[in-house]
Amino acid sequence: ALAWAEVLQASDIFLGVNAVDYSGYPDCRPEYLEAYERMANLATKAGVEGRQRLRIHAPLIRMTKAEIISIGSELTSGRNLDTNSAWLSRELAEHGIEVGWHTTIADDRAANLDCFAAASRRAGLVISTGGLGPTLDDLTREVLAELGGVPLEFHEPSWRHIEGIFRNRNRPLPDRNRVQAMFPKGSEVLFNARGTAPGVWMRLNNAMVAALPGPPREMVGMFHDEVAPRLASAGLARGVLVQRRIHTFGEGESAIEEKLADLTRRVPMGRLAEPEEIVGEFRDFLDRIRPEDFTS
Ligand code: AMP
Ligand code: MG
Repeated sequence: ALAWAEVLQASDIFLGVNAVDYSGYPDCRPEYLEAYERMANLATKAGVEGRQRLRIHAPLIRMTKAEIISIGSELTSGRNLDTNSAWLSRELAEHGIEVGWHTTIADDRAANLDCFAAASRRAGLVISTGGLGPTLDDLTREVLAELGGVPLEFHEPSWRHIEGIFRNRNRPLPDRNRVQAMFPKGSEVLFNARGTAPGVWMRLNNAMVAALPGPPREMVGMFHDEVAPRLASAGLARGVLVQRRIHTFGEGESAIEEKLADLTRRVPMGRLAEPEEIVGEFRDFLDRIRPEDFTS
């Protein structure tokens, strides 16, 4: 790219690298891109003579959206309400990660395969909840192994953890629980301090996948203990979400949008972490303004 840029006497090089690739490809890291820019200006005639400074751009580096998959026939049938995706979306926003999709599926093998395959191609991060129990309708582990093209492997420490829980409760341990200690080969085990079902952290297609159990108490605890630190080290978390609220009154949402012009345009999440920058979920706020809110 650099040689070609020099031939063309171009001053800007655009690279399509993305943060999701940090873990596998060291040349997708921002540090590498900075070093590359310095090198480019030392390695080219124009750079050395100071005639033209070469700049390296990676506009896609922070473009990542997450998908949340809620698994369970109790959800698709309407018996239980999916509260996990709402909680996870708010929590991911706090880490600077925008959620692009919420998908809810039944405990159905074909639906699971289909959904994880699609999500891991379009999103950089996939978080699923549910389907990690010990019964036959809990398919998440098997589905991840199948899509990853790897076998399930027995994980001794998880099995000892499950045995310990049953021993403390003075309950016989059903053979069926053994499946909860099976993990797709090459994946990381997410420890569950509050229940028997450990989670799974693995790469699938373009995404990092975190599979968490359905019970909200276990899911929340594991997100804090096991997922959040991994989001940071995988380069997926991008600081914090800064929110500013502007109170308005007396006008409908379209009139207010006109007046607030730039402020109501959605600011890319990548810029949210910068200190002093006044950004926020203005559109979300405006959507909730109704003229009747202002009539006495
Ligand atoms: P599972 O991990 O599939 O065995 O989930 C067990 C239980 O967790 C379900 O019966 C629900 O009570 C609860 N649960 C599962 N998914 C969700 C969700 N998306 N939101 C709220 N509760 C859930
Ligand atoms: Mg379930």
